[in-house]
Amino acid sequence: MASIFTKIIQGEIPCYKVAETDDFLAFLDINPNAKGHTLCIPKKEVDKIMDLDEETYIGLMRFARTVGIAIEKTIPCNRVGMTVIGLEVPHVHVHLIPLNSMEDARFLSKETLSKDDFEAVAKAINSNLE
Ligand code: 5GP
Repeated sequence: MASIFTKIIQGEIPCYKVAETDDFLAFLDINPNAKGHTLCIPKKEVDKIMDLDEETYIGLMRFARTVGIAIEKTIPCNRVGMTVIGLEVPHVHVHLIPLNSMEDARFLSKETLSKDDFEAVAKAINSNLE
């Protein structure tokens, strides 16, 4: 069965899209640790990051760097942190999280955003992509 992220790639499930290439997609996490929390995924559905072929792994990191730089330009924060977990969704994803304290990296306290907030943040990050 297709992962929830493959359904997002295929447009069956909506997302707040931040960036897209032929091989990768970035969209806002629906339950963000902080405003601007973004997921970067390969379109190729693979469960664990260490199972990615080297080209896709490096491509994902390059894509995540581009998106992370745009997040730093958009969201006031101390830095953008990068985390890979994958215990909930079995489709490789890199979390890019604007961090101001360790709390923002702990996946315990969550930010509540309205649909308008999500749309505005996704659009703002997208406009800062280079
Ligand atoms: P992990 O697998 O790394 O533990 O976490 C999966 C992440 O995906 C969570 O932060 C969760 O909020 C996010 N997530 C799960 N389902 C969806 C979804 O349908 N849309 C979006 N945008 N994010 C999701």
